[in-house]
Amino acid sequence: MICPFCQSNDDKVIDSRASDGGKVIRRRRQCLKCLRRFTTYERVEEFARLTVIKRDGSHVPFNRDSVARGIALACGKRPIAEDAKRRIVDEIEEECIREYDREVPTRAIGLMVCLKLKDLDEVAYLRFATEYYRYNDLAEIQKELDALRARVKDTKDQTLLFPST
Ligand SMILES: [Zn+2]
Repeated sequence: MICPFCQSNDDKVIDSRASDGGKVIRRRRQCLKCLRRFTTYERVEEFARLTVIKRDGSHVPFNRDSVARGIALACGKRPIAEDAKRRIVDEIEEECIREYDREVPTRAIGLMVCLKLKDLDEVAYLRFATEYYRYNDLAEIQKELDALRARVKDTKDQTLLFPST
């Protein structure tokens, strides 16, 4: 922590205590250069709630169940493990938060589902794309999927380059 008095970046914690019912940790610190004391507060970051922007422009909270329902409908009686479907929902929620922060267009979610179903089961993918996602032109989906795949790959490469971020 940068010392507010001398701007040195070398201190030690001399006391830590919880306050606000354990939601905040207050730390007394001492600068090792000028020896003056200062206080820092540590709290859990507010959970960013993920919002979905629908086709008509309205905002609704991200709902795992509705993503799961779309996937279940597309999978129908295909021999796909429940685990695999659940994993797709997990991955989509994660990707939405990572790539879109707080607001994700419903179309982007649909594309992510397409991309994942395509790797999992071609029939479920086509069903989702045409019936549940109202895509009529498969060439159009393919183009968007290629773009998305390139973007996801890009992000993964960056993650490898900067493992701490
Ligand atoms: Zn200092």
